[in-house]
Amino acid sequence: MRLDFTNERVLAVVAHPDDAELLCAGTLARAKSDGAAIGIAVLCNGDGGQPHKPIRNLAAVRRREMDAAARLLGAELFCGNISDGTLADDRPTRLLLTEIYRRFRPSLILAHSLADYHTDHRVAGVLAEVASWFCASRGQKTKSAPLPASPVLWWMDTVNMSGFEPGFYVDVSGFMSLKEKMLACHRSQMARSADSSFSPLLDLMRLQARARGTQAGVAAAEAFRAHHAFKRARAW
Ligand SMILES: [Zn+2]
Repeated sequence: MRLDFTNERVLAVVAHPDDAELLCAGTLARAKSDGAAIGIAVLCNGDGGQPHKPIRNLAAVRRREMDAAARLLGAELFCGNISDGTLADDRPTRLLLTEIYRRFRPSLILAHSLADYHTDHRVAGVLAEVASWFCASRGQKTKSAPLPASPVLWWMDTVNMSGFEPGFYVDVSGFMSLKEKMLACHRSQMARSADSSFSPLLDLMRLQARARGTQAGVAAAEAFRAHHAFKRARAW
C-alpha cells in the first residue's frame, strides 16, 4: 500500500523555524513530489535560539533562514512572529492560526505532539488542533470565510522520539537529501553544534529518521499518529 498525496494541501504547524525540518520535512517533500501544495506555519520567530556568540537581530536572521528552506521545498511560509517561550493558547493566537488555515485551505495538518519536550511545541500542538476546528466554524470570525470542512490532523513525532508511540510511518528514504539541505539553511542553529548543551541538529535528525526507518523496514522514515477526533478523522 502506498500513501498518495496527489491534490492534497499539507500544512505543517510548528513552533520554531527549524522544527519542520527535524520532524516532517521528508513527508512534506514527498507530498510535494506527489503534486500536493505545501505550507509551513511557524508560530515563533526563533529569537531565543542564540548560539554561544550572540547574533544581532536573530529573529530577522532566522526569518531569512526559514525563507531559504521554504524556497528549497517550494512551500508557502506563514510566520506568527511570536517571541520564543511566550507562545500561549489565547484567543488572538487561535484566531491568527485560524486565519492562516482559511488562507491556505489545508486538507492535512501536521502538528506537534502534545508530549513534546518544549512548552512552545506543546502549545503549538494545542493551537493547531483548536484551529483545525475553528477554521470550519462559522461562529469564529476572521478576515477570511470559514472553510467547508476541517482538515485531517496528524500528530508529528517528538524531538528525539521521547514518549511518542508511532501510529504509522511515512517512508522518506528518497527525500533525506532535501530534508538535510533544508536543515542546512538554518545556519544560526547549525552553529550551535559547538555548544555542549545543544544537540547537533544534523546528527539528531539523521539518527531519528534512521531509527524510525528501522522500525518500519525502510532506510529513513518519519513517524506520526492520526488525530481521531470528530470531523478530523477520515477513511482512506
Ligand atoms: Zn522547536
